[in-house]
Amino acid sequence: MTRIGLALVGLGKIARDQHLPSLAANPAFQLVATASPAESLTGIPAYADLDAALDAHPQIQAVALCTPPAVRAALARRALQRGCHVLLEKPPCVVAQDLAALDGLAATQGLTLFAAWHSRYAAAVETARRILGATPPLRVQVRWKEDHRVWHPGQAWLWREGGFGVLDPGINALSILTHILPAPLEFIDAELDCPQDSAMPAAARISLRSGAAGVAMQLDFLHAGEPCWDIVADTAQGQLVLSQGGAQLSLDGRAQRIQEQSEYAAIYTYFENLIRRGARDADGAPLEIAGAALRHGRRRRLPLQVLPPAPTAGAAATVPDPLPR
Ligand code: NAP
Repeated sequence: MTRIGLALVGLGKIARDQHLPSLAANPAFQLVATASPAESLTGIPAYADLDAALDAHPQIQAVALCTPPAVRAALARRALQRGCHVLLEKPPCVVAQDLAALDGLAATQGLTLFAAWHSRYAAAVETARRILGATPPLRVQVRWKEDHRVWHPGQAWLWREGGFGVLDPGINALSILTHILPAPLEFIDAELDCPQDSAMPAAARISLRSGAAGVAMQLDFLHAGEPCWDIVADTAQGQLVLSQGGAQLSLDGRAQRIQEQSEYAAIYTYFENLIRRGARDADGAPLEIAGAALRHGRRRRLPLQVLPPAPTAGAAATVPDPLPR
């Protein structure tokens, strides 16, 4: 079977940490070129933008868009117009309507559009889904806490419009919830804590509902120390704890044996499968909930600043410590 020529767009942290190793290990794809304003890889043709890469390499059949979310919809539209299958990093777009429009364009063009919600491919997620499908939750609590300075050093885009702030990691929890809960997830309300220099929240408390179950989310992007990415569901049969971002599972305190799985290896296997079948997968449910929280949440100003200082010529960018909380 011929390999699928692919261009990687946005050569930042997630492209290097996950996409490149997964592509290197998957013989179905061939990395033909990269497109990123300032970054390049040794031995791979590099272009500053997507059009230049597509102009130079007509064999590119697919693109993986690993840019910040604000520019993703326009890049995806361009790639689809130019006849390429598209993998969208999460969050796939800034607003759900843009994702729906892209899905319509992909359908018209006969191309694959894949919104790759990576956390859905964490090792224990399918087991949790099966259990909750048979035993619906009575209540759900989500604790999603990490230190942005450790996990996203120097990324100013997170704090600008379209950057999602703490909803950038928080949308991973939403992507799992919308996958494992048996009833649709509905937004009720939210409180958002926004640093002085940020358009986006650094912490949030979000109330949701899934069928009869209340779902309470605590998100914190200023959390010092060990990160916490846990979903706790109380059911009539006991308590299910999905931890480590979906990688581990316990039932009533007993750890379940889960086979290891690489999220991004699974993503590229599925992307190939979608392309070969001429299918699409662009679920906007997590984006709709995140969008509702950002639009309707009550905002409170936090007396701290999070933006990294603009780099000066010859100086490496540093990230300030926030004020004590
Ligand atoms: P990042 O390190 O800031 O990388 C983004 C890259 O995209 C940068 O190299 C940037 O170049 C480039 N870029 C910006 N605009 C572009 C454009 N118009 N065309 C081509 N390239 C462009 O961010 P990241 O952490 O990799 O995150 C990227 C996406 O992946 C986000 O949606 C994030 O939520 C998701 N994600 C991140 C992680 C993680 O652990 N970091 C995990 C899972 C998913 P410049 O820097 O030169 O502007």
